[in-house]
Amino acid sequence: MADRFETESRKLLGRLRDAMAGEEAGQERLDKITHLIATSMGCEVCSIYLFRDEDTLELCATEGLKAEAVHETRMKLGEGLVGRVAKKRIVINTPNAPQAPGFRFMPETGEEIYSSFLGVPVQRLGEALGVLVVQSKTAREFSADEVYALEVVAMVLAEMTELGVFVGEGAAMSARHSQPVLLQGTVGQEGVAEGHVWLHEPRVVVSNPIADDPEREEERLTEAVDQLRISVDQMLTMTAGVDKEQQQVLETYRMFANSKGWMRRMLEDIQSGLSAEAAVEKEQSLARARMSQSNDAYLRERLSDLDDLSNRLLRILTGQGADTGAEMPVDPILVARNIGPAELLEYGRKLKGIVLEQGSVGSHAAIVARALAIPLIVHANRISNDALNGDHILVDGEQGIVHLRPDDSVAAAFRDKIAMQAAAQERYASILDVPAQAKCGEIVALHMNAGLMADLPSLGSSGAEGVGLFRTELQFLVRNQMPKRSELSALYARVLDAAGGKRVVFRTLDIGSDKVLPYMKPNDEPNPAMGWRAIRVGLDKPGIMRMQLQALIRAANGRPLTVMFPFIAQFEEFRAAKFEVDKTLAREKRLGHVLPASVEVGAMLETPSLAFAPQKFFEEVQFLSIGGNDLKQFFFAADRENERVRRRYDTLNLSFLTFLEGIVERCRQTNTALSFCGEDAGRPLEALCFAAIGLRTLSMRPASIGPVKSLLRRCNLDEVRVIIEAAKERGDMSVRPAVLEYVKAQHQH
Ligand code: PEP
Ligand code: MG
Repeated sequence: MADRFETESRKLLGRLRDAMAGEEAGQERLDKITHLIATSMGCEVCSIYLFRDEDTLELCATEGLKAEAVHETRMKLGEGLVGRVAKKRIVINTPNAPQAPGFRFMPETGEEIYSSFLGVPVQRLGEALGVLVVQSKTAREFSADEVYALEVVAMVLAEMTELGVFVGEGAAMSARHSQPVLLQGTVGQEGVAEGHVWLHEPRVVVSNPIADDPEREEERLTEAVDQLRISVDQMLTMTAGVDKEQQQVLETYRMFANSKGWMRRMLEDIQSGLSAEAAVEKEQSLARARMSQSNDAYLRERLSDLDDLSNRLLRILTGQGADTGAEMPVDPILVARNIGPAELLEYGRKLKGIVLEQGSVGSHAAIVARALAIPLIVHANRISNDALNGDHILVDGEQGIVHLRPDDSVAAAFRDKIAMQAAAQERYASILDVPAQAKCGEIVALHMNAGLMADLPSLGSSGAEGVGLFRTELQFLVRNQMPKRSELSALYARVLDAAGGKRVVFRTLDIGSDKVLPYMKPNDEPNPAMGWRAIRVGLDKPGIMRMQLQALIRAANGRPLTVMFPFIAQFEEFRAAKFEVDKTLAREKRLGHVLPASVEVGAMLETPSLAFAPQKFFEEVQFLSIGGNDLKQFFFAADRENERVRRRYDTLNLSFLTFLEGIVERCRQTNTALSFCGEDAGRPLEALCFAAIGLRTLSMRPASIGPVKSLLRRCNLDEVRVIIEAAKERGDMSVRPAVLEYVKAQHQH
């Protein structure tokens, strides 16, 4: 790049900064900027278009176009040249705008006399904020240097917008971070919450985008990058030989940190007048824009590594560590791009809600959120860019909606909703101590699912009769290393103590599929849900299973013990697992440990195959629990984690219900105890139908026990059975509509 131009660009930025230093209101500042850019670049026109809403751009300031058009001229994303720059995030540089593809004539602006057009996106960290345009009468193509200069100015504009420089009396636009935002995500855990944003990773604020001493900025950048390299090397040494995957990520970091191209581009940005921080952000911004437009998963991952590295560099440069000194609000709603289960557990129950930009319904974090009964929304696009610490936020875990900085009317309607739920909870509290007895007299036992020590207090407050499913893998998932036998045994003992004699069904480790232990080598399986998981791992690597069984036996310490094996697909697997229990009991006895008063050994029915196991299996297994989450995904061949197909098949589909009836019947023949412990057991309508087809034990999230019990007590299972039979006769796809109608009629009585 020509020296002359670097100086020009620096001069322009310098003037821009001076223009910003005054006391003017937002609009005046914008006007000043357009004037300044137009004169500096020798153009008649300079205009700034900013987003009004997600797909409308508005002319917010101009030098050269008609003043009446300001705040009047609007265009949709993709419309006209300006709309195209915004939509495609590209630079459009043409000597003859009216002839350019996509040109749209806006008569109110008087732009028809301008021939050449140069538009660049105004974006910050990959997020489009608007478009900056210069136009001139002479038909000429702008030089690469001019394009670059305008891009640099656009970057500074974006930073200033972020800092709220254009807000104030007669504001050109309200600050982006003061507008209400509504985001649609996916429900990870139901529930509603109102509170204030707590950012897991606080945003780095760059308050000095422009700098006039490039040598000093170069030095700062070089020092910071050196520091970054050292810290990446240190991390590499620390993880050497421990964690291969982490090592690979760090190797990529190192590659980027040493990348000459990255460094060169940032140094060029500094030469053009940006501060070191702004230069890092400019490159980060470009990478993010590319990330959002790339379909290549590998490239996206690498760009995401670069993004993370840039954040680290920004923290070094600004001295803003993870700890910004901000104080956590009393009603924190955690907002993050993503979060690991261990980090989430550290926050624990003090969180009122969680909103993640990424994550998935079946992720470990979601499992922890569910266990802690904290409302969770995942896939809330853009939330980590839009939210600021302390923002008022509403989480609607029923609809999967997040209201950021809501209007008063929205907040009021939301509070009504919370109040209604609280009233319902009170109603449930009044039936806490009565059984879930239907009108026909039949009683359904309601148990709760758990997985953390933190769940146990719910045993009393929910009215559960026991723990029907204790997911032991959560204890393994939330640690960085394999827990020791003594730790596990102490934990299981505390669980049994807290249960105070109520039955706890300990499910042995169910890892694999989506639950990958951070300290175990991940297996690259094309189909992990159908891969090496749960009991398959347990039997192939019996060491861990034996250790866990020992811990359970020692924890029971003379009390009754109930163990359940996950994902049993055939009789032999159960036999082999049961053999391990017997062997471990014998070994423990030899070692002089007290044996449990009784040991019940059961299996989860999670694959259709087990429903067709030999009669002998049903005779030998002491109890069975239907893991409906897995069973349903295999029955319909519809991935439980895949949002596209997850809800396609109704649990109350008659094929599935008929299949469940078959299982109930087989268990009846052999007198085998049967329960259902998948998520569907906690949905009132589903629970009612399960009870109607003969399931007498349901295990669910503690918060579901009240609603399920309340519905069961209002219904007659004989009547529901008749409805199900009639739906079968008619050939209905699902019994849901018919049962729903029946339930509504019960409400009216
Ligand atoms: C199930 O599959 O229904 C179940 C309870 O197990 P998990 O959800 O832990 O796979
Ligand atoms: Mg399962």
